[in-house]
Formats: sequence, C-alpha cells, structure tokens
Amino acid sequence: MDHNLFLYNTLSRTKEKFEPIHANLVGMYVCGPTVYSDVHLGNCRTFISFDLIFRYLRHLGYKVRYVRNITDAGHLEGDRDEGDDKFAKKAKLEQLEPMEIVQKYTIGFHDVLRLFNTLPPSIEPTATGHISEQIEMIEQIIDNGYAYETNGTVYFDVEKYVQQYDYTVLTNRKLEDMLNNTRELSGQDEKKGRLDFALWIKAKPETIMRWPAPWSVGFPGWHIECSAMSRKYLGDQFDIHGGGMDLAATHHTNEIAQSEACNHTAPAKYWMHTNMLTVNGARMSKSAGNGFLPGELFTGNHPLLNRGYSPMAVRFFMLQAHYRSTLDFSNEALDAADKGYKRLMSAMGLLDKLKVSNGADSFNLAEIRHKCYAAMDDDFNSPVLIAELFEIVRVINSIYDGKAKVSEEGLEKLKIFMKEFVEDILGLRNDQASGTDDIDDVISLVIKLRNEAKANKDFVTSDRIRDELNAIGIQLKDSKEGTLWNKI
Ligand code: AMP
Ligand code: ZN
Repeated sequence: MDHNLFLYNTLSRTKEKFEPIHANLVGMYVCGPTVYSDVHLGNCRTFISFDLIFRYLRHLGYKVRYVRNITDAGHLEGDRDEGDDKFAKKAKLEQLEPMEIVQKYTIGFHDVLRLFNTLPPSIEPTATGHISEQIEMIEQIIDNGYAYETNGTVYFDVEKYVQQYDYTVLTNRKLEDMLNNTRELSGQDEKKGRLDFALWIKAKPETIMRWPAPWSVGFPGWHIECSAMSRKYLGDQFDIHGGGMDLAATHHTNEIAQSEACNHTAPAKYWMHTNMLTVNGARMSKSAGNGFLPGELFTGNHPLLNRGYSPMAVRFFMLQAHYRSTLDFSNEALDAADKGYKRLMSAMGLLDKLKVSNGADSFNLAEIRHKCYAAMDDDFNSPVLIAELFEIVRVINSIYDGKAKVSEEGLEKLKIFMKEFVEDILGLRNDQASGTDDIDDVISLVIKLRNEAKANKDFVTSDRIRDELNAIGIQLKDSKEGTLWNKI
C-alpha cells in the first residue's frame, strides 16, 4: 500500500502516520448506542463519521474488522455509577420488559443507519451477550490488584492504578483537577477513592436485569463491556478505538485503565474522537431536549424545521464538515447542503449521457484524483474531498454543454473515479424521488426544447415550460453549469 494516511490520534494530540499493528489488517472498535431511546441526529453524526473512516480504510485495501457494540445493560444515568439503570427506568415508563426496550430501539437504530447508507459493522456485540467475558475480566483485574469488592459491588482502584499508569493520557488533565471536580466521599460510600468506578454492581431488590457473579447477583458497570468485547474480538491490542468526544474523559479513560490493569498493555494504538453536532451552539443530546430525531428531519415535522430533508442530503450535510469540527444544525446550512447534494447527483446522472470525442480530454483526471486522495489521507478530510469533486462536477457539466471534451477512455476512467469517491467512499447514493432514467431523459429533452425556445427569443414558450414544470413540482435553475433541475 503506497498510501500515506495520517490520522489525528487523541493520545498524542497530533496527526500520526497510520501504521496498523498487523500489515493490511485493521481492527477498529467504536462505542455504539445505548439502546434505551431513539437515536438522535448527534449520535448519527458519530456513526456516519466512522462509516466514512471504515469505507476509506476498506477502499485502501485493508481488511477491516469493525466492531461496534450495542449497550443494552449496565448504563446508569450518571457516568459515575449514580442514578437508575436507563433500561429499567424506560421499561417502567413504557410498561415493557427491559429487553423489549432493547429490541425496539435496536431495530430503530438499524433502520435509521440503513437510511443513511452506513455499512453494517463486521461484529455488533451486545453487553448482555458478554456477561461472562466481563466477569472474567473483572476477576483478572482483582487478581492483578487493581480492583476490590465492597458489599457485593466491585470497584476499580484508581489510586492504585495511578501509581503505575497514567490515568490522564487521553485528556491531558491534571489528576488534582479531576479530584477537585469529583464529589467528596461521604461515610456512606463503599468506594475507597473518589475517582474509583464500579466494575460490577450488586442488584437492588427492584433491579430487573441481573446476573450471578462471584461477588453478588448484579450487573456490570458500563465501561467494562467495551474493554471485554474489544479484547474478545480484536485482541489485547488493536489499531483504532473510536467514539464521540464526550466519551473521552470518563468512558474511554476508564476503558484504558481497565484494559491496562488486566492485560498490562494499552488497548488501542490510535484513539479517534468525533466532534459534536450542535443546535444553536449547544450540544445535541437527549437530556438537553434538543435531540432531533432523524424521522423528524426527513418529514420536516419539528417546530425548528422549515421543511424536510432526504437522508442523503443530511449525510452530505454531515460529510461537508470535518469529523473533528463541530457542526451546527440550521435550516440554512441544510438548504445549502441539499443544493450541493443535488448538484453532485445531477452530475452523476449526466455521466451516462456524455458524448465522447476524439483527441485529448479537457481536464487532468490524474491530478484531481491525486488531490482527492490527498484530502482523505489528511485525517479523512471529507469537506476538502467534496470541494475537489465539485471541480469535476463543473467539468462534467461543461462536457454535457459541449464546452469541454472527453475521450472514450477518459469517460470510462471518469465514471470509475466518480463511483469510487462518491458512492464507495462518501457513501452517497441518488435518493432523488425522480428515480428512473426515463424521467431524467424526458426532463432533459424538455429542458433542451426550452433552451432552444430561449435561444430563438421565444420567451413565451420558454417561460411557459418553466412555469408548467414548476406546477408539477419540477424546478429548473439556470446556472454556470447549464440548466439543472430538481423535484420540490
Ligand atoms: P449514546 O447512545 O448516548 O451512548 O451515544 C452514542 C454515540 O453518539 C457516542 O459515541 C456519543 O459520543 C455520540 N454522540 C452523542 N451525542 C452526540 C452529538 N451531539 N454529536 C455527535 N456525537 C454524539
Ligand atoms: Zn464504549
């Protein structure tokens, strides 16, 4: 592989050259959703970002084992072992079994990700399906001296851990500050240290989801599932661990501690974190109540939305921002993305209609191709890639208008290139309602007739064609690249 892929590693806070532990193989673990409610668009942004990463690694020829878990147990409301179990609480509210909650929202999650055209991961393990692996790992951590049991609950001993290891590698925070930001222990606490966190939690009489373990009948803490499942499917050490940025400070920090305390090695070589989707500057989240559901976005059925947007336009909107930048959600930004997406798709549609000519191509595909790879090799820079693709859109439109030339061989290469970058890597497909090629052809013909009328200064006819198309929901737009159309 002659690629120089660089990716930003949260551990070193720099872009590093990507060198997998085993040549040509990549192990990637991404923290999946907690399936106790519908996924919101912020969650989707993280999974779409890792889909882009997965797709590009595969495109480069790596054999990727992509593991993305489903958290279906053990996630309490507070990140630090406080509050109710999220599933039990929701189950009570909806009068369902906790596993009915899990099933309902897992299906919903898959449906949404399918609409966004994300590829399924290679393995999608669940926390409840890996209780024995979690228990085994906790036993090893206790044996290694980094965890202790109090009244049936097992805690990770952070004070002991920091004597040997660095608990702040991911965030670069000071341990002192972390301590100061954590609630002081009271006489009632079972923990020895303020930063200690639960690996196994003893069930209360009302706890529904419970399993037998050496310490008590109970359930695993949230962080241990990812350490246990990543180890099982990817080994003690693997290449990439990812998730949203909000997970770095607690969940990922604790995952590293658990894996090191158990295996004596750091789990992942590269830690990748996606930035947040925001609404008017505030992080989109379930608890803040600003969590748009994908369905609301597609239908436009939400007070903050002027209209609905197609899943692919939304995917395009997300890919137009780099995964490490925040992305703010607004009607204007979505409108702009929708236009861009349609422009790209109409150019894709024109590819089959271009006429070839003899002689040299009027564009240098090799050069553009090189720039596209350079963008993706620079920490998966999809916005720069999209800007490069719009250069090609311009070329395609000029060829269609007869202002530029393409040879038969050049056109074949151009088609392969566009398929690779637009469909395989960016994962965009044409979801325009217009659908069939027949309609494309008919509208192209009508546009041609209108442009001829215009050229003959027969504006009555040309305006009539435009207005009548408009009346049946087809909008024409004259642009530098010729006349474009879309369904409204
Ligand atoms: P959860 O279901 O809350 O465990 O979250 C699933 C994934 O979505 C995690 O990787 C989170 O970091 C990520 N996530 C949550 N909120 C946002 C947001 N507003 N923008 C981007 N990613 C998010
Ligand atoms: Zn995780």
